[in-house]
Amino acid sequence: MRLLLLSCGLSFRTPCARGLRWPLPRVPPLLPHAIHASPRLCASPPPLPPPTCPALEPVISTNPALDMSLTFRTLAFYVISTVEQPQRMVEEHSAFLAERGMVGRVYCCADGVNAQVSGDVHACDEYMQLLVSSFPTQQLLFKLDPVAEVAFPKLRVKLKALVPSLQGERLNLADRGVDLSPVAWDEMMAEPSHKLLLDVRNGYEWDVGRFAGAERPRAAQFSDSDAALYGLPQDEQERAETPVMMYCTGGIRCEYFSAKLKQSGFKKVYKLQGGVQHYGNEFANTKKHAEAASMEEGGNGGSAGGGAAPHWKGSLFVFDRRNVMPMGSDEVVGRCAHCGAPTEIFLNCGNIDCNKLHLVCSKCLPRTQGYCCESCSTAPRRRPLPVSDATGAEGALLSAESIAALTQGPRPGALDPNKLSSIKPANVPRKAFDADTHGFRGRGDGSIVNGEEEVA
Ligand SMILES: [Zn+2]
Ligand SMILES: [Zn+2]
Repeated sequence: MRLLLLSCGLSFRTPCARGLRWPLPRVPPLLPHAIHASPRLCASPPPLPPPTCPALEPVISTNPALDMSLTFRTLAFYVISTVEQPQRMVEEHSAFLAERGMVGRVYCCADGVNAQVSGDVHACDEYMQLLVSSFPTQQLLFKLDPVAEVAFPKLRVKLKALVPSLQGERLNLADRGVDLSPVAWDEMMAEPSHKLLLDVRNGYEWDVGRFAGAERPRAAQFSDSDAALYGLPQDEQERAETPVMMYCTGGIRCEYFSAKLKQSGFKKVYKLQGGVQHYGNEFANTKKHAEAASMEEGGNGGSAGGGAAPHWKGSLFVFDRRNVMPMGSDEVVGRCAHCGAPTEIFLNCGNIDCNKLHLVCSKCLPRTQGYCCESCSTAPRRRPLPVSDATGAEGALLSAESIAALTQGPRPGALDPNKLSSIKPANVPRKAFDADTHGFRGRGDGSIVNGEEEVA
């Protein structure tokens, strides 16, 4: 992969690890079963364990605008690299993370690993070290955000596809799109030449933030994504010649979708390296350094580096308790489902049989009680939002804290109020509740905040 990137004149390394030390404290490698996917990087493939070729230094992507003094971190990463014994990896990662009190989701399969976890700083350091030891020939990119508390309710490590399969297709992951660094991405975005820009996420993610010019994704869920839904050219020659740029939150959905497009005849396929999370971090780093340089030169540092990331509008939807992350932009592009006012408050509809993830403003929330529409507010099976608990008086404006308490995912160890199997709503009879499959995950967008099926 690295050789491919170099041959394309693109540099994988980006200056985003400033201020973070590497290597981290050594953790003995537990997992000798990740094979070398790029043996050409070594003179000859070394026996494992231990690798004789030093592990590639990872990239650690962080946002300097966030408060690094916080005790906890969220850590997101994935690697596409053949795993010979994925079940064993599941067991070992599960034990490793549980021992350190970490929470989150880790999916392992023969294709690699996809993880979004959270724990204290030291535990996250150790997990990164373990991953580097396990995949020594892969350039890993870790997205590390400081958080005040762990961002997931529990730990789930599963033997599972890294993303839901695209219409059941088995893709050749050796033939994927080319990574563009955030800088290269911006340069290509600025070029006037014809290209297609694809948002490889869900519609509700687009609603709260997106690249300028990207259309709202039409697929109800990732597994439905295909060239026709994006209105891509059918003509063979046009497919071969048209450049396609794609992005998603953390990059993994583009790994699969770019492989699918390449196997459908597209030749010029580009994906945003590390996804929008890394793009936002890189922009914040560049801005911070430009401001520091401006201060040194006697300026006030205020305007250096410009405002928000040049091509991004709004914030970024994330699949953890935070729901939405800032991207350095003051522009709010999300719109309330009820009144159209700007908002970034996400909520699953309180009608259990709808459960639609929708945006609601702080003014409409007390009145609408978390229902997405009038008919849902009178549906038979409801999960009303405890708005009056949060405000003391129904109808009052909600504080940011009480909105967060109502709309963010469950706290660590708490039951998930969005999951029917967790809580019996007061207005659902016990018999009906017990008869339910308890596995219902919503309709409409097919989405659910902090849903376990979601991927970055
Ligand atoms: Zn509203
Ligand atoms: Zn609804």
